[in-house]
This record gives sequence, structure tokens and C-alpha cells, in this order.
Amino acid sequence: MELTQQTLSAKAEELIAKENKYGAHNYHPLPVVLERGAGVHVWDVDGKKYYDFLSAYSAVNQGHCHPKIVNAMIKQAQTLTLTSRAFYNNQLGNYEEFLTKYFDFDKVLPMNTGAEAVETALKLCRKWAYEVKGISENQAQIIVCENNFHGRTTTIISFSNDEGARKSFGPFTAGFIKIPYDDIEALENVLKSSNNIAGFLVEPIQGEAGVYVPTDGYLAKAKALCEAHNVLFIADEVQTGIARTGKLLATCGNCSCTKGCENKPEVKPDILILGKAISGGVYPVSAVLANDNILNLIKPGQHGSTFGGNPIAAAVAVAALEVVRDENLAQNAAHLGIIFRKGLNEIATRNSLITLVRGKGLLNAIVINCAEDSVLAWDICLKFRDNGLLAKPTHGNKIRLAPPLVITEAQIMECLAIIEQSLNEFI
Ligand code: PMP
Repeated sequence: MELTQQTLSAKAEELIAKENKYGAHNYHPLPVVLERGAGVHVWDVDGKKYYDFLSAYSAVNQGHCHPKIVNAMIKQAQTLTLTSRAFYNNQLGNYEEFLTKYFDFDKVLPMNTGAEAVETALKLCRKWAYEVKGISENQAQIIVCENNFHGRTTTIISFSNDEGARKSFGPFTAGFIKIPYDDIEALENVLKSSNNIAGFLVEPIQGEAGVYVPTDGYLAKAKALCEAHNVLFIADEVQTGIARTGKLLATCGNCSCTKGCENKPEVKPDILILGKAISGGVYPVSAVLANDNILNLIKPGQHGSTFGGNPIAAAVAVAALEVVRDENLAQNAAHLGIIFRKGLNEIATRNSLITLVRGKGLLNAIVINCAEDSVLAWDICLKFRDNGLLAKPTHGNKIRLAPPLVITEAQIMECLAIIEQSLNEFI
């Protein structure tokens, strides 16, 4: 905390004090107050420039204030903002057609935040279980993974094992079975043990847990098992989706095309959950995609949201997805991800503070050589900040490194130098 006081201006201190006094303390932000962003950079209130290596938890994949996306929002905001779904609007159908073709599904149910989309997927899965699979009412079980992160609603935290997220928020929603992540045998055992399993909800890479990448083939095997047991495979790609991991979706095959999984599908989820970068971080947009056999189960009045599918969201998301395709962001993330991890691994050979480098594409993490409850990773992030790079620890001793996907190779090299110099200041 001493470091903080050394570098913050009076203006920044005042703004932080205001948030502390008038806002709920449900976050613990790094002490930096931002006022502007463009591409891979953000600027604080004193004009200092930083590389953004969080990208708003992978929402800003297309870079800050991408002109094409911002212009789509301005144009639509000046024309029609919200009708609710009580009426049709001239943007939603075009967006739904664009999105479903882009990801190769029959239909979409539009929502706003990631957690809402996860809730939607869970409700959809239960409905399918009762009305199609034939599970008796209230008996459906959904399998989830330990150390998952799917959002903050009461139902979602019901199957979290993060005590900080759960404490004093019970009673919880029933109907979930937790198994270890990346453990095919555990999945098979649960699937064999009951006829009441409706779905398996999984993050293709566990982002919040510290960027855990499962063993090659895990997702494909899990999907095959789900198929064999007539269970829906539900992929939460809120964080991994939209080119972040070097493919359009982390569940795609190895190609980095932007045509969904049609070329080399590794895994085609029965229900796909998207959020965050589907709007380039410009507006809250989330979506649940599935084929007709599942999404047609939802009838008027059974689910919805006043803002879901509004004209601004629709226009913004189309522009944001066009940017991903036109600027080859999946390819860029794949290519630069390899260079970045190589650079990090080289730093690790020279600096024992890094014990492990892991990730895919531009979703990466370094594990710091300290206990999970140590403040060292936080102090390293303060040092990164002082040296012009913003990142945040996730789960104690892991630092996630996830820049906007518009970053260049020269910028990656500059950031590796900042990271190494910062780490060297600790030894
Ligand atoms: N699912 C995953 C995998 C996420 O990473 C997140 C957010 N970090 C969410 C869901 C929740 O998204 P939101 O914060 O928009 O509700």
C-alpha cells in the first residue's frame, strides 16, 4: 500500500476516495484511475499511458473504443435505443441471423450480461430435461466443475466453491453436482450413476480460477460422453469466446477461422454461452445459442429481459463480430500467444518468481512463486502499473495476462520487457 501512496496524484486519490465513500466495496481495484482508452492502451487521469493486460476480463478483445464499434453504437443510439421485446425492432432479426450464421446454430436467445446468459442456459437445460428427456419434475441435475466461475447470481454461486462468493448468501439452489475439472473419469462416473442428469456446464479454459487449460482432448471426450448419455454439453465461452484463445471459440478445432466450428469441429456444444467481447466491451451483450430442438422449447412469457436484444446491442454486436473477422483477431491471438508464452517462459528461466506459464492464444497467466494468500502478486501488479502495464492477480498468486487482441508483435515484445524489468525489481 505504501507504493500506492507514492504514485497517486491528489486527483486520483480524490476519485478513489469518492468510490470508496459512495460505492459498495464489492471490488478491490488496483489503484489507478482511468479516463481514456484506445486500442491496447488506456490513460489515467494524470495522462499516464498503460498497456491494458486485463481487457476488462476479456471483454475488450477488439481494443478500446474501436471506431467501427463505437460508430455503430452512436448511429443506433441516435435512431432507436430500446423498444423492449413487446414490439419488433428493425435490428434484432438481422443480428440474430448474423450471429447464428457466424456461430453455426439455428437460434439465439439474447441477454445482456454473462451471468444472465448462464442462467438462461441452465433454465433451458432443465426445460429440455423435463420436456424432452423425460426426467421427472424437479429431479434434473446439472454437472459442473470445481473452481468454476460462471457469474454472481444466487443460483450460480450455489455451485461455486469459492467461499468468498458464497458466504452469507444461502440458502442455495439445488440440482447441481460438482466434479473435478479436467477429469473425464469423474464425469463418466457421475453420468453412469444417475438417469437424472440433464447437462454438463463447463468453461473450455477456467479463466477466473487462474487460466487452467484442460488436457488436450478433454472437451471432445466430455462431449462424446454427454452424447452417449443423452446429456446436454453446455459451453460457457463468456471469457474464452470471440477469438481470445486463438480460435473463434475455445471449443473450435485447431483452425482459426471465423466460421464457427464448421471446418474442424473439436466440440460443438449443445448450448453455447457468449458475453463480454461479443460487443467489444462497448455495451453489455450476451447470448445463448442452440439449435431448434432446444431453443424452441422456450415460449412467450417463460423467459426474457427488458434490455435483451435491444437495437443498440444488436447493432454493436454485429460491428464487434465483423471486426473480429475482418481484422483476423483469432489468427493474431494464436500467433502472438505463442510468442508471448515463449517470452514468458524465457523470463521464468532467468527469474525464479515465475513458477509456471500457462494459457492459450492471448489468455495467459503466470503463477508467482508465493503462497496463495501472499500479497506478492498484488505488489507485482503495482510494479507493472508503475512501469506502464495493467494486470490483476486472480486467485492469489496467479496473474492473468490478456491484452486486447489487436496488439502487435512489437508491442508484445515491449510488454515482455516491462514484465521482466518489473519482476527483476523484486529480487
Ligand atoms: N462466465 C464466465 C466464464 C466468466 O468469466 C464470467 C465473468 N468473468 C461470467 C460468466 C459472468 O459474466 P458477467 O460478469 O458479465 O455476468
